[in-house]
Amino acid sequence: MALVTMREVLAWAQERKVAIPAFNVDTLEIGQALLETVEAEQCPAIIAVGQAAIRDGKLAALGKIVSHLAADVSVPVVLHLDHGQSVEQVVQALCAGFTSVMIDGSRLSLEDNIAVTRQVLQIAQAAGASVEAELGAILGAEDNIAHDDSKPFLVRVQDVVDFTGAVQVDALAVGIGNAHGLYKGRPNLDFQRLQEVKDVTNVPLVLHGGSGIPGDMIQTAIEIGIRKINVATEIRMAYVQGMLSASANGDYYEMVTAGKDAVRQMAKSKIDLFLRR
Ligand SMILES: [Zn+2]
Repeated sequence: MALVTMREVLAWAQERKVAIPAFNVDTLEIGQALLETVEAEQCPAIIAVGQAAIRDGKLAALGKIVSHLAADVSVPVVLHLDHGQSVEQVVQALCAGFTSVMIDGSRLSLEDNIAVTRQVLQIAQAAGASVEAELGAILGAEDNIAHDDSKPFLVRVQDVVDFTGAVQVDALAVGIGNAHGLYKGRPNLDFQRLQEVKDVTNVPLVLHGGSGIPGDMIQTAIEIGIRKINVATEIRMAYVQGMLSASANGDYYEMVTAGKDAVRQMAKSKIDLFLRR
């Protein structure tokens, strides 16, 4: 089917009190494995293109690949820009057919974050696309977007009140101690803060840095109200590990097949966890 916006799939998740997986796509083969899995599992999904792929010059090409692959599946698929860095980049994504964009103004002042998000909302609404914003820093580095870890990083509840009062976004990513990449040990997530945020807004909440968060913590986050969970690192790692595991003969298609199998398994495990089944 044709691509949909994040609004549709988040409403679906809200009804069922589950979270939609947002998987990052970095290659054609990862995209094939992801779309095959969401079709087999009959799971609506968000396929996101991140900043490393964009720096690698693949924004439009990956967008076309995902649109093409999604046309052959029967579940709703969203083509989403992850951590959009500027209004210009949002426009590039929308021109490439993305149905959803994130504008990451989390490193700006609240006032400037509201201003850039408002600008993106106007443009995205004209294109019929949905918008995700971010409050509070997400630790670690996603695709080399590093935050200063010494600064207070937890989302402030009053900021959520002010922000969601000023701009009507479709989804809001919050920093509750979550981090990009893999965690050293058990993550230190502030569920009390997440509950306080949930109590002041009806905007669907997003958990970035989903790679390596234990299942019980994922369940708690979903119970409180997380409706989208991003998984990038674990998908990429699964692909690389799968490829390496089959590299003995140096045969490209043996490696690709193993890489895709590993991505399918990883994606299925996240779908089972996020959809609570
Ligand atoms: Zn992220």
